[in-house]
Amino acid sequence: MRLLVVEDDRALGEVVRRGLVEDGHAVDLVGTLVDADEAVFVDDYDLIVLDLGLPDGDGAEFCRRLRSLENHTKVLMLTARDALTDKVSGLDAGADDYLTKPFQFPELSARVRALLRRTDTAVAPVLEVGDVTLDPAAHTVWRGAVAVPLTPKEFSLLHHLMVHRGQVVTRTILLEHVWDANYDGLSNVVDVHIANLRRKLELPGADGAIETVRGVGYRLNG
Ligand code: CA
Repeated sequence: MRLLVVEDDRALGEVVRRGLVEDGHAVDLVGTLVDADEAVFVDDYDLIVLDLGLPDGDGAEFCRRLRSLENHTKVLMLTARDALTDKVSGLDAGADDYLTKPFQFPELSARVRALLRRTDTAVAPVLEVGDVTLDPAAHTVWRGAVAVPLTPKEFSLLHHLMVHRGQVVTRTILLEHVWDANYDGLSNVVDVHIANLRRKLELPGADGAIETVRGVGYRLNG
């Protein structure tokens, strides 16, 4: 999934970014509300981790602005204090969940997973299509009883296709949700990774499990 972290504490922001990348997400990190505004204008994020106290304003204001623009991206708010008023104002501003600093990364990781499950209609914690099983928490993929080692990008691609099974997912959408803002490489990178996925999972291509929809993108059937 494509995530935005808005955090002005560089060290903390880096720890969160790195952890979420290890979880298989494409993550952009910004430290100000101005940069956050620009990021959500340019890109379509699945979730935003939002610090409340930022150098150029209040995270809750940003959240309120997002909601007023009919932007329903999931927001996990980070509050510095354990103050009830912070939590209440955060949730009232449209945040979906909050986490009090200091926190342990595994808790943030679990809350992000829980929120991303809520994005689509009741996505199961463990995804299954045919005999392929993907567990976002354990970060594992199985084909029947055989574990299939995937790179983070392959994992993220498969995750996206499984969440949207039966639907055509365009190359642009996959690029947006699996690669971060710094990506400026070859446009056939999606096709290359899909080919690797098919090979590793021994999934038939063309009109098989991962169907190529000519000129548009891919569809996971089953
Ligand atoms: Ca801060």
